[in-house]
Amino acid sequence: MERKHLGNPTNTREIIDKYGFAFQKRFGQNFLIDGNVVEKIVREAGVTKDDFVLEIGPGIGTMTQLLCENAREVAAVEIDTNLIPILKETLAGYDNVTVINEDILKVDIGALAQEKNAGRPIKVVANLPYYITTPIIMGLFESHVPIDSITIMVQKEVADRMQVGPGTKDYGALSLAVQYYAKPEIVLNVPPTCFMPRPNVGSAVIRLKKYEKCPVNVDNPELMFRLIRASFNQRRKTLANGLSNSPELHYTKEEIASAIESLGVSSSIRGEALTLEQFAELSNYFTGLESK
Ligand code: SAM
Repeated sequence: MERKHLGNPTNTREIIDKYGFAFQKRFGQNFLIDGNVVEKIVREAGVTKDDFVLEIGPGIGTMTQLLCENAREVAAVEIDTNLIPILKETLAGYDNVTVINEDILKVDIGALAQEKNAGRPIKVVANLPYYITTPIIMGLFESHVPIDSITIMVQKEVADRMQVGPGTKDYGALSLAVQYYAKPEIVLNVPPTCFMPRPNVGSAVIRLKKYEKCPVNVDNPELMFRLIRASFNQRRKTLANGLSNSPELHYTKEEIASAIESLGVSSSIRGEALTLEQFAELSNYFTGLESK
């Protein structure tokens, strides 16, 4: 059984040269070449022999190998057809992995979780292609796929945005969306030297532990997210102006003023100062207006 781990520069270079593989920038291809980082990601993801794991973007299979050794079953979705023959070789020693040559944004993950894990919550582990980090994460949450946790390498700045609260420059729509669905925790900072080729940004591994029940009660989450988008689209404006200028909302100035007043905050407050709880309250106030 072939079980040569790839997590170092020599073995990575060897397999890449063997297949004449050319890195594609448009697919965000920065492969991990540090075995310790790979091990730490799998450990932090808490993968056990009970788990079905979805890996997004296996590359040449560096992390996939370790996932196969720790999980019950793995599905790895890779967009780049040129990597498929390489994965066939590097994963030849494992009988618990399925490689799917597809764009992750087109995969019916709910159906996959149903087929491979009888609809029970799955773990997602990935060194993500950075150009589609947000659509991947939001897609996983919003499609209501049963998820236990998502443990991912992302650009350091994006990891910070997911984790922070109000009053910081990184706080925004992504922070609130992630924190509505999951508890975020940055578990590792990873420098560019751990990748081939080196990215020109720092990276971090963040674990998003999905809540069984969302931490706030919102009557209409879709409306809350419209309010959040409106508040952050015009960061420098007051919350009142942000809401009245939004093409996605149609409340009068008076309704907006009374909604903000109901929070017990200053009428000149900016959206970036509101907590998730306050956005939920604001949203419920507007829902109450509509049902009157
Ligand atoms: N997991 C590997 C590693 O850590 O060495 C590779 C990580 S690399 C940052 C991102 C991987 O995602 C690449 O293999 C790339 O081809 C793949 N990828 C990019 N866009 C994708 C998409 N839309 N769907 C699936 N895979 C994608």
